[in-house]
Amino acid sequence: MAKKQYAVIGMGRFGSSVAKALSGMGFDVLAIDADEQRTQEMSSIVTHAVSADSTDEEALRALGIRNFDVVVVAIGEDIQASILTTLILKDLGVPAILVKAKSELHGKVLSKIGADKVIYPERDMGMRVAHHLASPNILDYIELSPDYSILDMKVSGPMVGKNLQELNIRARFGCNVMAIRQGDEMNISPRPEDRLMEGEVLVIVGRKDNLTKLEMAYP
Ligand code: ATP
Repeated sequence: MAKKQYAVIGMGRFGSSVAKALSGMGFDVLAIDADEQRTQEMSSIVTHAVSADSTDEEALRALGIRNFDVVVVAIGEDIQASILTTLILKDLGVPAILVKAKSELHGKVLSKIGADKVIYPERDMGMRVAHHLASPNILDYIELSPDYSILDMKVSGPMVGKNLQELNIRARFGCNVMAIRQGDEMNISPRPEDRLMEGEVLVIVGRKDNLTKLEMAYP
């Protein structure tokens, strides 16, 4: 199978980080920014770096943008440019468009005009940090949809030595333990009778309100 081709528009902190990471994984990446200095900084890191204004349809067409499998729009401040760029990419027939949004309203507009995925890096990172601050046992919190999330919860205190049957998380909180992690090892079919050990991490999926109850029960 041919390697996927990525283009990233906007080399701010977020866009350049996405571009660098994809490049590091061995993918071909086209980095685009209106600011020549930004593209120059990326030129030794990604396959191609070009300066162009992404609100200029002809410029995007000339770059052959529709031949890319995925285009990431990482323009935050200039909402108008972000929306126009997304619209043009959609019109040109780019198969997958991911766009970074600054606010819920910005995100709503992006979804309406056809962005395939809208990402809120600041909001999501803030949420993850808040959950960890509220309960240090929560190592990570990932939103799956407006109603559902996944959380990583450290086995500690009253959980140690119990098994999943005794904890009964499904019946008590309506959440599901999908996996138990220990370091880099992931047990994706945990048995109800296995004793939990200090240092293990439960990977739990559930409705957000139920996960909050679970977090409160094991602070
Ligand atoms: P960060 O990821 O650093 O938080 P941000 O959300 O603040 O970034 P901006 O700094 O507004 O986003 O924009 C990111 C980059 O996008 C900048 O380098 C800017 O030059 C570039 N950019 C803005 N508008 C356009 C455009 N129309 N065409 C191409 N690049 C653009």
